[in-house]
Amino acid sequence: MAGIYIHIPFCSSKCAYCDFYSVPALEFKADYIKALKKEIRLRMPEFRDAIKNEPVKTIYFGGGTPSALSPKELQEIYTELANSIDLSNVAEITMEANPDDLTDEYIKELTSLDTLHVNRMSIGTQTFNDTMLKLFRRRHNAEAATEAVERVKRHGITNISLDLIYAYPEETTETLSEDIEKLTSLRPTHISAYQLTYEPGTTLTKLVKDGKVKPLAENECVTLYHQLVNTLEQAGYAQYEISNFSLPGYESKHNSSYWDMTPYLGLGPSAHSFYSNDRMHNPAALTKYIKLLNDDKIPAEAEGLTKHELYNDFIITSLRTRRGIDTEELRKRFGNTFHDYFMSQLQSRIQPKLYERCDDGAIRLTQEGILVSDSVFTELIWV
Ligand code: SF4
Repeated sequence: MAGIYIHIPFCSSKCAYCDFYSVPALEFKADYIKALKKEIRLRMPEFRDAIKNEPVKTIYFGGGTPSALSPKELQEIYTELANSIDLSNVAEITMEANPDDLTDEYIKELTSLDTLHVNRMSIGTQTFNDTMLKLFRRRHNAEAATEAVERVKRHGITNISLDLIYAYPEETTETLSEDIEKLTSLRPTHISAYQLTYEPGTTLTKLVKDGKVKPLAENECVTLYHQLVNTLEQAGYAQYEISNFSLPGYESKHNSSYWDMTPYLGLGPSAHSFYSNDRMHNPAALTKYIKLLNDDKIPAEAEGLTKHELYNDFIITSLRTRRGIDTEELRKRFGNTFHDYFMSQLQSRIQPKLYERCDDGAIRLTQEGILVSDSVFTELIWV
């Protein structure tokens, strides 16, 4: 199977913690859509060839803010895709959306399109604490987010993923309980929960440098992480990847394919692709992206991955999942040398309490291992 990711690079304002590529330049919408359609036409023959007869199973409109485009504009992009590749096997079409864009009219129009049928929505709720939403410079408040989720459900899209940011400044076990309670009372099928990080160049990081915001201490973050995992599990959400939880059967098919190293085509500025055993990336610059395509040039640059880098990707992505590493699959893909290297590093460098063997023989991180996953990965990758 294969997947397609489309990056919609517009956000009307920048959230304080965000370092994803997005611009507030909605006046470029028409030029962007024209360029994107050309990218689809130029790149699809190679992608079709690379995936051979594997069916495309998932489409993901991510961003930025896909809901910054009108439903008709999203359908225009989808139609271009459908003209270029067989989409008859697509089982999941996800769209990320900001709560404040999800008006009744917007969802009504989206759910009555002729050809594009979005059947999964990922909504950027983040937290239900209005003070934090203000600090994060989100455009919605908790009430608006709650109403948006209910509205989407009323219009028939019931497969909904909600985002949660935890370990924000001054967060306590009480505020996290409140957030989780509100979140789970909306009964999403899926939850993506991320610990707040302070990325270089973001407004939030500047506030920390200026002494206006104080990040939580490491031990407080650990306490909140355990609370998050335990509470979500009790509410029926299984942790199937470090940051992702779902009700049974509602794991994100699209994201699971990233972790399985399934081929995918990434379209739009800053999008990444993976196929033919290589990664490619598009420039994270809207005007450059548009110019390249106006000149009939493919914007993707191949990274030329070595076998060692592919092995490293495989180790990291597999160990992020609860399924873990299938060591026989590792041997099949990379041969005995890599398999034996992994086993010897694991046994000599990683404390036994940080990993476990599953019933099917796969190796996965324990909760303790997840907390120090970056240092575990450093020991296991090939440098
Ligand atoms: S809406 Fe999403 S992509 Fe846009 S600035 Fe906020 S977090 Fe970043």
